[in-house]
Amino acid sequence: MAFELPDLPYEKNALEPHISANTLGFHHGKHHQGYVNKLNAAVEGTDLENKSLEEIIKMTSGDTAKQGIFNNAAQVWNHTFYWHSMRPNGGGAPNGPVADMIARDFGSYEDFKAAFKEKGTSQFGSGWAWLVKAGDKLHVTNTLNAHTPVEEAEATPLLTMDVWEHAYYLDYQNDRGGYIDHFLDNLVNWDFANKNL
Ligand code: MN
Repeated sequence: MAFELPDLPYEKNALEPHISANTLGFHHGKHHQGYVNKLNAAVEGTDLENKSLEEIIKMTSGDTAKQGIFNNAAQVWNHTFYWHSMRPNGGGAPNGPVADMIARDFGSYEDFKAAFKEKGTSQFGSGWAWLVKAGDKLHVTNTLNAHTPVEEAEATPLLTMDVWEHAYYLDYQNDRGGYIDHFLDNLVNWDFANKNL
């Protein structure tokens, strides 16, 4: 069973003006599709062929001989998670149980925002910023290139933001901080974070 590119959970222009249809078209249709294609080519005929994405990520994490497979599998997983981490008319203060946990673990929503933005802006080069639950506590973190909390047994990812340049360069050029502000204020899907708790 080959992996397939999942549909976006909204129309390509649904996140405008914060993320353009042009960016989503390339990001989903070219980048995400490219990871799916490369993963399928790499696992075809191997013992990984019938494993789930999560199993492949865990089985190849840290194995330098299988780095190419890991990178594509993790990028397929991360991108699908990223599309669901956003919604039209999202962002702003959270609701539900995650709101209480953010207040408890970060002090306030504003403090969470500052911590998340710091993780996104300080990730040197390509990677991801995350809100995760580890134990019963929320943390913000960042990962390099394709790395993902899925590799860690302890961490449950709640939200992610892609900080590879291809996620924002067409709309924000080099202004990663501007992209992060729009992500937090207008795009975050708090219902998805609550569902992942
Ligand atoms: Mn990406």
